Formats: sequence, structure tokens, C-alpha cells
Amino acid sequence: MLDNSQHVLLGCCRQAKDFFDKLGSGDKITYHDRLNVIDSDRSVIESSRLPAPFHLLGSIMSGELTASINKLTLARVLISMLLIKPSENDAAADYLLKLGCPSNLIEKLVEPVIESALNESASAGSAKYARMVLIEMLLKDREAYRLGVPDVALSELVHEAALRRLSELGCRVRLASPVRKLQVQNGLMRSIETKSGECISFDQCVVAVPPYILSKMGLEAGGAQQLLWQPIVAAHLFFEKPIPEFPPACVVGEPFGWVFGKHTQFGYVQAVASAASKLMGLDRDDLQALALRAAVRVEPRLADMPLKRSVIYIERRATFATLACDAHRPQAATELKNVFLAGDWVATGWPATIEGAVRSGKAAANLILANG
Ligand SMILES: Cc1cc2nc3c(=O)[nH]c(=O)nc-3n(C[C@H](O)[C@H](O)[C@H](O)COP(=O)(O)OP(=O)(O)OC[C@H]3O[C@@H](n4cnc5c(N)ncnc54)[C@H](O)[C@@H]3O)c2cc1C
Repeated sequence: MLDNSQHVLLGCCRQAKDFFDKLGSGDKITYHDRLNVIDSDRSVIESSRLPAPFHLLGSIMSGELTASINKLTLARVLISMLLIKPSENDAAADYLLKLGCPSNLIEKLVEPVIESALNESASAGSAKYARMVLIEMLLKDREAYRLGVPDVALSELVHEAALRRLSELGCRVRLASPVRKLQVQNGLMRSIETKSGECISFDQCVVAVPPYILSKMGLEAGGAQQLLWQPIVAAHLFFEKPIPEFPPACVVGEPFGWVFGKHTQFGYVQAVASAASKLMGLDRDDLQALALRAAVRVEPRLADMPLKRSVIYIERRATFATLACDAHRPQAATELKNVFLAGDWVATGWPATIEGAVRSGKAAANLILANG
């Protein structure tokens, strides 16, 4: 099955890793120790033998990436970032510039990290969330920067594994049964009604749909309606013939900033564009051309390989915007005493990621357990 969009898991997403291990699908994620960065040259970010937080400094400082940057400046920025917290309304780029971060370091190192993790540019994304991700990913421990790429489709990694585990635990799972109505009485939710008309009653309930679905069901979750959404575009490129093998790579300066050689024997490449609002006016052919351009920068031999077809997938409400988002992210507990919220948009301190979703699910489950 074709994934809509390649998902990756950074090493710092520890609870998500633990979740997949518990589901029994954790071994279907390959963690890459070498992060390939394609700029005007090719560099690799990898851990040295030094302990954290110094383990990546060698590779960050050795490549062309930071060749023009004074090493003392880099060290000063890192220390300032650890010591000085930004305010709620600071954008990431403004905050880093205030700390003395050179603009080319923002463009070549920070921007790709922020775009991938927050799905926003450094000038739009929240400094608070950007700082958190940079510290978690680059400084906290020696494995946190590693890129986990699933070897299987998301449906196999998540859905099939969860179904298997839930069945083992004796749970009944209804698929393709969207909830249409919530029945609330005296401050408690008593039951839900599915599209097929089935009525399911319960003592306690975790609601894990996105906030814009929740409000259609007549339940408002704090200010979550005011969260702004950012798109992601994934381009699936199918070549006529098998293609050369290459590792996942970040392509600096391209709208499609990550390229994955997924199934080289079938000639299949996926390119993903985060912070993609700038691409929303483009048509399919333009998007395909941009994706192909990024892929060719990673593997130049693709330029001579005929493309059979492509599929462009646009998710307009992929993730919420992080700047000042905490004012709109609700806690898991709701006004209804037996209803708890889960989802990446619930207040977890993490951006919209699998890690955020897993954390919120655990928080909701703990509240249910505490509720008796
Ligand atoms: C294109 C794209 C690429 C991404 N890449 C990454 C990545 O590389 N790494 C990463 O960590 N994160 C990534 N994310 C973010 C990640 O996918 C989300 O953070 C995560 O899936 C959120 O999980 P969730 O459970 O909160 O919401 P969802 O996964 O959206 O789950 C909500 C569920 O609610 C169900 N639902 C909707 N309506 C109803 C209804 N009426 N009744 C019952 N059920 C309903 C939906 O079917 C869905 O299963 C990406 C997101 C997108 C869109």
C-alpha cells in the first residue's frame, strides 16, 4: 500500500519509539546514524565519540555547512540557546538572530531542522518549540538526532500493529465507523452514535479526532478552533526502471527538502515538502518538477531516468502552526467529567508529531485510570 506521505521518527521521539516497540512494530523502523545533507556540497551529520552535547559538533563544524562560520560564534549561540528562553511570541529566526546566530547558519542548518520538525519556516515557527526541538534533537543525547525511517507503510507500522495488539488484549475495534453524534447529559457523555446508526455507551471516553472534526460533533475544545493549519506536500515518483540505491537525504534550499529512495527495485522515490504553504498555488506538473529537481540533487543519475508516473498528495491541514499555539491547545481533561482529549493538538509541549500524539494518548489514559 502506498503511504500518503513518508513519516520519519527522530531519535528524540522516545515515547513514540516505546509505543511502536509495545505494538510490536518498532523493529520495522530503521534508524540512520548518518544524516546526509545536500547543499552546494554533500555533508554528513554524524555522532563523534564525544559525549553529548558535544557529539555532533565535529561534523557540524567540519562541513561546508559552517565553513564560513567562526567556531566560537557557533559555541556562543549554542550556550546562549541553552541559557536564554524565548518569549511565547518570538519567531524562531528572530530569537536565534538575537542570540547572535549567523543568518547562513539559520538558512543551512536550523531551517531544515525546523521545517522538518515544526512544518514551518524558521521565520514563522515558534522560537519556544524550535528551541525545544533543537535541544532535544542536537544536544540532549548521542542518539537523539538519528533519523528513523519506517521500512513499511504507515498502515502496517501503526494500524495493523495496533489492531493486532488490541485484539490480543480482547478489545473490539470497529473500522470505517465514523462517529456522527455525541450524547451528553448532566455533564457526562453517555454514548456515541456511529454513521451506521449503532449506539455505543460507556463509562469513560477518550476522544482522539482532530479539533475541526470535534466541533462538527458539537464539542468545542478550548480555543482549539483557533489553531492555524499548515500543509505538507508529498510527491511519489515512479520511474520506468529500477533506480540506484541512495540513503534518505535533506536537500538544502529546495521546497521538497527530504528525498527518500523508497523501493529502488521498483524505481520509486518519495520527496516531501514541509512548510508547503508557498507551494499551494502551483499545479501538479510544477510540483512534480520541483520534486524531481530535489531528487536529482540527491541522486544525479535520476536526471536520465524516464519517469513513468507521479502521484502528488497535498494535506492542507497537516500540522498546526506553533507560534503562540499554547493559548489554543487544550488540556486532556474536559468540562465533561468522563471525556478526555487525545491528539497531537492537545497540550503536550511537543509540536504536531507522532511523539506529541503518543504523549497525549498516554496522558489521557492516565487520567482515565486516575478517574477510576
Ligand atoms: C503529510 C504528513 C506528514 C507528516 N510527517 C510526520 C513525520 O514525519 N513525523 C511525525 O512525527 N509526524 C508527522 N506528521 C504528523 C503526524 O502524522 C501527526 O502528528 C499524527 O498522526 C497525529 O496523530 P493524531 O492521533 O493526533 O491524529 P490523526 O492521526 O489525524 O488521527 C485522527 C483520527 O481520527 C479519525 N476520525 C476522524 N473523524 C472521525 C469520526 N467522525 N469518527 C471517528 N474517528 C474519526 C481519523 O480517521 C484518524 O484516524 C505528518 C503529518 C502529515 C499530514
